[in-house]
Formats: sequence, C-alpha cells, structure tokens
Amino acid sequence: MSLWNIVTKIARKGKIFTVPVRYLNLLEYQSKNLLRKNGVAIQDFCMVDENGFKDFEKFNVNEYVIKAQILAGGRGKGHFDNGFKGGVHVTKKRDNIKAIVSQMLGHKLITKQTPRDGILVNKIMIAQSVNIKRETYFCILMDRQRNGPVIIASPSGGVDIEAVAEKTPHLIKNVPVDIFKGVTDQMADELAEFLEFKGLLKQKASNEIKKLWKLFLSVDATQLEINPLVETDDNQVISVDAKLNFDDNAQFRQKEIFSAEDTSENDPREVEASKYNLNYIGMTGNIGCLVNGAGLAMATMDIIKLHGGDPANFLDVGGGVKEDQVRAAFRIITSDEKVKAILVNVFGGIVNCVTIANGIVGALKTMSLKVPLVVRLEGTNADEARRIIKESGLNIRTAVDLEDAAKKAVASV
Ligand code: GDP
Ligand code: MG
Repeated sequence: MSLWNIVTKIARKGKIFTVPVRYLNLLEYQSKNLLRKNGVAIQDFCMVDENGFKDFEKFNVNEYVIKAQILAGGRGKGHFDNGFKGGVHVTKKRDNIKAIVSQMLGHKLITKQTPRDGILVNKIMIAQSVNIKRETYFCILMDRQRNGPVIIASPSGGVDIEAVAEKTPHLIKNVPVDIFKGVTDQMADELAEFLEFKGLLKQKASNEIKKLWKLFLSVDATQLEINPLVETDDNQVISVDAKLNFDDNAQFRQKEIFSAEDTSENDPREVEASKYNLNYIGMTGNIGCLVNGAGLAMATMDIIKLHGGDPANFLDVGGGVKEDQVRAAFRIITSDEKVKAILVNVFGGIVNCVTIANGIVGALKTMSLKVPLVVRLEGTNADEARRIIKESGLNIRTAVDLEDAAKKAVASV
C-alpha cells in the first residue's frame, strides 16, 4: 500500500476525507470472468452496453436475471433515477428483457451503497437465472488486525452482513487462515457444514470454497466476497454475486486484471491526474491545494482548517515532478469551479523548487487565473524559485511559511 493510501485511510478514520481510496474494484461481470477462469461455479451470462446486446441471439435459457453493473452493492433493493425499481430483475419472458434493459441503461442506480445521486449504469449483465433454495454468505478478507486472511461465513446470506452480525452474531463465523498452509480440506468441510450444506452438497460447497481460496491467492485479492453463495433446487452450489478487491501493490504482476479497471465511475479529475502520475483527492471546500507528499498534504489541510478554511482538493505532485506535470496539475485545479483560491505548498527536498516555479509561471502564461494564488516554496533552490515568480510579473502572492500561506489563502476567499 502506498503512503498516500495509508494517510488517506487514517484521515478517513478521522472523517476528514470524504473520498474513496484508489483501490482496484471490478464490476460483477469482470469478477465473474475471473471466477469462471478458476473453475468456480457461476451462471452463464452475456452483456449489454451502449453498443447494444452482445451474443444475445445465442443466449437462450428458461429464466433470465438482468443485473445492472455498478461498483456498489445493494442493487436488488435499489431504484433508478427514473423511478424504476430494482437493479436485479428476474424474468421468464425473453420479450421483457429489452424493456427492462432500457429502464436501466443510461440511468442512475441508487442503492444504500452509492452516493445519494446514484451511479450511472453503462453495462448490464443478462444471466441464466437459478432457482434459489437458500442464500449463504462467504468472504475472504485480508485482515490488518490479524495480519493475514480471514474467512467470514454465514448460513444467513443474501442480506446485509452487517445486519446479521448485529442481530444474530452466532450465525457468523470468522476463521483465520494461515497464508502458508491455506484452506485445508478439513477447514473447507467445516465451513461447508457451518453454511448448512448437507450430504453431497457439503462436498460440492467444500470444493467451491477451496477454489475460491485458490483464486483469492492467485490474483492478490484483498477481498473476495460472495453474497449470496446459493444452494439451488437442483442441488448445485453457485456464486450468484461476486465482489473482488485487489492489492494495488500487486499491480506489476496482475497487469491483465488492472488493465480491466473501469474508470468511468471515478472522478474525472482523478482520472486526468493519474494520467500525469499525480494524486488527486477531491474534497468539499473551496481552497485548491497543490502540494508534494501525503504528509505535507495532511499538514496543509490541518493548518487551513485551523484558520477557518476548507480545502477543495489536494493535488499531490510527488517527488520527481516535471514542469509539464505542474502545468497539468494547475489545469486540473483551476478547472474546478468550486475553487476560489489556490495554495501551493511545496517543500523542496527531492523536488526542485525551480521546477515548480517554472511550471506555475508556464501554466499561468497559457491561462487567465481568475482566483487568488498563494505560493509557499521552501527547500532546494527556493531563492531562485522566488525570483522566477517575482520576475514573472504575475499576480502571485508569496508566503514565508506554512502558517503565513494558510492565513493568506483563507483570507483571500
Ligand atoms: P446485490 O443486491 O447488489 O447484492 O445483487 P445480487 O446479485 O446479490 O442480487 C440480489 C438478490 O437478487 C439476491 O440476493 C437474490 O435473492 C436475487 N437474485 C440474484 N440472482 C438471482 C437469480 O439468478 N435468480 C433468482 N431467482 N434470484 C436472484
Ligand atoms: Mg449481493
């Protein structure tokens, strides 16, 4: 995990940040492709997106389940911004499918787990529906407290697992897994039994659990959640819903998976920033901040808040920043209409302050800055950087230290 992620996590605990940490998430259909590749039992499916139905002619089953694909759960109980109820629909009538799809595609789905406005549905899965006899819950998770993977299982699945934990804690089992030994036959059997799979089904469930474990390890997942893992009326054990998260440090050896990342739901400024190797964190205030390093970002935020201000965002330019990145950073910050002042706070250790100064001056020559800009540069080549800013003739306020910079930025909005 990068330093930035750690700091963001800590900050989130303190409820300062209200933005997601950048971990890779996959949509259900992408996760299920991985499940299928690893021999886990799933339903057959085909996909619909803005380009239309794909392979639907060949897809003939008795009953269909139509599922909106978004990076959030609770779809079954959700509703769309057009009033349409439910992000998961079961139908026997093939003729109904187009009408259901048209109510979902291009509309926003609102669930307990989405932002209040919902998430735009760009993709829809049409799968072979299964006759569900029972829904159970199965999850493997990298657990920080236990320094390793833990399996969480419950025979009471399909519902909010937090609610099960609260109301009927005896229906949840936590089983730590030794990363070197893995999930043993005995462990898988015991879990299958706890999930109330009986007779032949117990063996099937136990096998599914072992395959899910193998998948979890092989893709460097931090979380693999199957809710529900179902028992069907024809005695099958099927993963009906799947959610996978991955360790971003494993990107170098999971290139195929990471290249499948769906960035359409991310903040476009965040996506733009990542193109230039910059870290963008959006917030709710009105002071745009350009900083270097997560630690300085935190300190800058604290001191802005101390003086009664509120950051609109943080753009972390990192260590080996180049002028074109600084220019891109400026473009991204100034494109946000919420930003009423900009504070540049850079401590030049690895970063050369001259690079930052040239980047700022270069950016401002190609755009008209409509909000006040306060710059505090300290460290490597700071004097030279200050001279460049001063001689540029641009309307830039300089600050002597962080305190001074924060005060000036807050006062200017
Ligand atoms: P979520 O609401 O986002 O978690 O989406 P799920 O894929 O978990 O689906 C929600 C619920 O819809 C499940 O708990 C099931 O009760 C139901 N469901 C999902 N797939 C099927 C299916 O193939 N057949 C039937 N009969 N019900 C399904
Ligand atoms: Mg689910």
